[in-house]
Amino acid sequence: MSIRTFSIAGLSTESGTRSAQVLDLTFAGVSTKFPLFVLCGEQSGPTVVITAGIHGAEYVGIEAAMRLAKVTNVAELRGTLVIAPVSSMTSFAKRAIYLAPPDNKNLNRCFPGQSDGSFAEQLANWIFENLIKRADAYLDLHGGDLNEALELFSIISITGNAALDDRSMQLAAAFGLPSIITSEVKGSTISAAGRAGIPAVLAEVGGQGMWPETDVQLMVDGLHGALASIGMVTLTLERKPTRIMEQMNWLRSENDGMFYPKCKVGETVVKGQIVGSITDYLGNPVQTATAPIDGTVMFLVTTLAINKGDPLLSVGA
Ligand SMILES: [Zn+2]
Repeated sequence: MSIRTFSIAGLSTESGTRSAQVLDLTFAGVSTKFPLFVLCGEQSGPTVVITAGIHGAEYVGIEAAMRLAKVTNVAELRGTLVIAPVSSMTSFAKRAIYLAPPDNKNLNRCFPGQSDGSFAEQLANWIFENLIKRADAYLDLHGGDLNEALELFSIISITGNAALDDRSMQLAAAFGLPSIITSEVKGSTISAAGRAGIPAVLAEVGGQGMWPETDVQLMVDGLHGALASIGMVTLTLERKPTRIMEQMNWLRSENDGMFYPKCKVGETVVKGQIVGSITDYLGNPVQTATAPIDGTVMFLVTTLAINKGDPLLSVGA
């Protein structure tokens, strides 16, 4: 068999081998580390890019990406796997939620990025140009942040290109998480991928700063399922039917203070139902949160601390 070489970000990897390197990158005058694995299968096949740690405290995806890089056997792999387990090292190292240092932007609202923008915009641009654009399929691993619990689901970004949307849907179904939300979050990784014609899935597992083995294994199983569906690995995992949701409705705090949730993730709620309350710093009630629509609680902030404008929870339907 002829030797193929896959080159990316100065890293050259021959078929049947793997590379692992921590890249030193500088954006807007700030240096950052970027761990990268390239696994070049002995046999030819598609190129799949997997990013995790776009939000640096969503640990299940980060650990699952590390695990996949470790356990995948290049002798049996068809195609090339490019794995970036900690895409936002500045937020991972600082355990930052939502917004990453040094420019305090949500990296997952900065895609496809800007080469002359702020740190996060340049990082997004680098990830998009060097990694995502090279992909035949793209998987981005997330979860609840340090302060959030969540229900298991995948999101696909609907582009209006039926053939492309169908491929994203098939990947998400093969990933096997119980719900699939079909909507576009502008500036997100998968929105930029979709606009570039690349099928993509954003998977959400775990939260609250924890990474229990059951959640990590669930994410690894999902990755295996998705890779198997496009012929990169051989696998027969039984897939349960998934539920499709067309919207995610976010509820936000109108006050600084304390948040007392009155629902759980995964709970079915009806429009108008009280799902939480907020008090000021003296314990006086200042806001009652009610479900905006009938649906399922998908995200829930679980910290007592809440700030004006922060998300409280989301309801999917
Ligand atoms: Zn995230």
